[in-house]
Amino acid sequence: MAAIIKKLSGANLDIDLASQGDVAWQQDQCPWNAAEGLNSHRCALKNVSICPYFCGVEYLDQLLCCYPHDNPLRAQTAA
Ligand code: SF4
Repeated sequence: MAAIIKKLSGANLDIDLASQGDVAWQQDQCPWNAAEGLNSHRCALKNVSICPYFCGVEYLDQLLCCYPHDNPLRAQTAA
């Protein structure tokens, strides 16, 4: 499998859990938005930012989120 799938850097993504039921599929709520009673936090905003709690995406559409803990992946990549 490793020879088939490549990890490519530099993706520019728009990802969020902020549809508030306005989509045809089941969507979990962002725990940060839930804790603050907001709908403003986005996982990744194209050309702008990536949430500090964003830990990636797993096939097919599962978001990996570490809120409210420090992001262990950021600690690995900071050096
Ligand atoms: S990464 Fe987690 S805390 Fe950040 S916006 Fe996405 S769901 Fe919310």
